[in-house]
Amino acid sequence: MLTQEQQLLVSDKDTLSKDGHYDDLAKLSFLTEDILLEQLKQRYEKDLIYTYLGDILVAVNPFHETSLYTTKIRDLYRYSTDIHKPPHVYALVDLVYRNVCHGIYNQQCCVISGESGSGKTESTKLFLKQLMYLCGGSSQLEQQILQATPLLESFGNAQTVMNNNSSRFGKYIALKFVNGKVIGAQISDYLLEKSRVVTQSPGERNFHIFCYLFDYLPSEVKNMLCLHTKYDYRYLLTSSSTDLQHTGAGNSLDEVVNAMGLLNFTDKEQHSMFRILSGILTIGNLEFSTDDEGFTRQNFDEEKTKNNLVIIANMFGVNSDLIMECLTTITTLTRNERVTRKFSLQSSQDARDALSKHLYARLFSWLIGKINETLNNPYPSQEFYQIAEIGLLDIYGFEHFELNSFEQLCINLANEQIQYFFNQHIFRMEMTEYESEGIVAETLSFTDNHSLLELFMAKPLGILSLLDDESRLPKATDQTFVEKLNYHFGTNKHECYSINRNNKYSFTVHHYAGKVSYCALGFLEKNRDTLSDSVVDMLKNSQDDLIRLLFHGNPSDGTIHLNNRLQHRTAAEKDARNRLTVGAQYRNSLQVLMDRMCASHPVFMRCLKPNQQKQAHLFDATFVRAQLRYCGMLETTRIRKEGYSVRLTFEEFIRKYGFLSRLRSSDSPLNTCRHILEETKLSEWQLGKTKVFLKYYHPEQLEKLMNKY
Ligand code: ATP
Ligand code: MG
Repeated sequence: MLTQEQQLLVSDKDTLSKDGHYDDLAKLSFLTEDILLEQLKQRYEKDLIYTYLGDILVAVNPFHETSLYTTKIRDLYRYSTDIHKPPHVYALVDLVYRNVCHGIYNQQCCVISGESGSGKTESTKLFLKQLMYLCGGSSQLEQQILQATPLLESFGNAQTVMNNNSSRFGKYIALKFVNGKVIGAQISDYLLEKSRVVTQSPGERNFHIFCYLFDYLPSEVKNMLCLHTKYDYRYLLTSSSTDLQHTGAGNSLDEVVNAMGLLNFTDKEQHSMFRILSGILTIGNLEFSTDDEGFTRQNFDEEKTKNNLVIIANMFGVNSDLIMECLTTITTLTRNERVTRKFSLQSSQDARDALSKHLYARLFSWLIGKINETLNNPYPSQEFYQIAEIGLLDIYGFEHFELNSFEQLCINLANEQIQYFFNQHIFRMEMTEYESEGIVAETLSFTDNHSLLELFMAKPLGILSLLDDESRLPKATDQTFVEKLNYHFGTNKHECYSINRNNKYSFTVHHYAGKVSYCALGFLEKNRDTLSDSVVDMLKNSQDDLIRLLFHGNPSDGTIHLNNRLQHRTAAEKDARNRLTVGAQYRNSLQVLMDRMCASHPVFMRCLKPNQQKQAHLFDATFVRAQLRYCGMLETTRIRKEGYSVRLTFEEFIRKYGFLSRLRSSDSPLNTCRHILEETKLSEWQLGKTKVFLKYYHPEQLEKLMNKY
């Protein structure tokens, strides 16, 4: 019996292996959904989790440790010119890195997609680690880039029913290279699911970092932070489960602290950060009571609550009476008169939770800002160097729970965008370009999700715009929002929308990955995402430098500086940005991401989840079939096989491959290309009006010929 490592070493990409399964399914002359599924299953059972579909890499999550990532295998994919390497995430890394070193593409991106728990984040980590290995692996910057991952995971990932280490934010890491050396990196983040700080669904957990505090902090530090046990905090127990055994990312607090040190976070900053986390947990325990008129009582009698207030005041560096005032009353200025209104119990609880969510989200943004500040070393005299970029996209996967809220809507919208990008690249652009270049190619049908994106993004009549309209109207409610959606899109007005007649807060969207019913309760508030002026003022004037900075108060002694461009925005700019609703900000950031990806040469990796139980050695064919179907995998195979995935302008082609022909003619570029191609004896290429169209396997064949010269 061969080990996995040996299997990889002997596997041959071009031939059918002895076991009767292929490394590249695009090479199968007859391909059906059943065959595709069977091939993936057979390979999976041998722990061959990677398979090519033409130049798309498919990975089936093994859900157990494999020997696929040993140093031997890492070296196998290092500057590999052997074109028969079996499929592996390292092969993708090698490809993009070679493109950087040979100056073939200046901007590339690796798009890793798949549903929640399918292995995107793990693949991203493997990709990044190998990429750093290829370009040296020992510089301080390379280490810092790798260390950003455990830090971000501890603050941005959590256990969900789908995945024990689920990313609750999206990230795009742009790595910059000069002469094959990494010279900097920039991380962009997308919409952290901050509601998780205050509430979690059944079977789910808060962000890992909160659990780490209890699992790993020495007791004297816990005492200093006034932390008890994790069973004492409401924010950690909202999922009605008392099993808080940590099953997350496998990182520890030591790693987080170590990463923070390497990434230039000062001790003072780390200390402030822990105090903020402790303060957030404690504020979650604040209980309110009402007076005879039903308003929240301002004076707490209970000893426990008084103690909590003192702890919060201490952790946040603010006055305890002021906290009470902010959480129980609102003061407005009308006609130069200050009017103070008391809060209802619900308003007080909402104000308390809003404070926690905002503080955590701002802490997270600050972490990313600080990391970027360290990773984004300006390279001396950039204009003299050709800078190449490799972008790595790892977002939260498609989600479909029993109860789907605003967060799922945003997550699924991002996945629709990625799917659209994939479709655009693989299908639409191919067909459009064939037409304009006069190439003869079979027209292929594919599931286009453009109309769904329109349903979400259209202005003024799209879900996000209508949500913004309702969020601005004082009398609007979540119910009136759903009524508006039903009015504009219901009763067959939009193919991707249906009304849920038995629930006035619910509506259904037909996503590419299936129908999802959303519950609109809380949508308006989540979209507005307001934090009262009095709370902001209180935190702006905190004694704690970090909190003051997070709320754009005045800097003091200068230890907690943010030189990052993002953080350098003036308070006025920030305020203007903050006035945008969450939906509008999210739409803008997705647009920037799409523009960036469209300007890059993409490589795709599709992650598949073999079963819903997160179990090793279990291939649930029905479950995998559904994923293959909705992400258009079969169509993908066909188009990659039949289409022309590589196209170069005549000039580019002549520049790259001109020397393969002995003929030196002063002929037209078209004819020169024809001569070269005819001399190489390759088949199945086509010549368009301005470009050479090649099959996905041609560059390898050409490279082979070039190596002979
Ligand atoms: P989400 O969208 O929820 O963030 P994801 O696609 O990022 O999900 P991961 O967190 O990467 O999913 O993977 C889920 C789990 O699957 C990992 O914690 C790990 O246990 C396992 N896993 C994924 N990929 C691999 C792999 N290549 N080898 C071994 N285990 C893996
Ligand atoms: Mg993830």
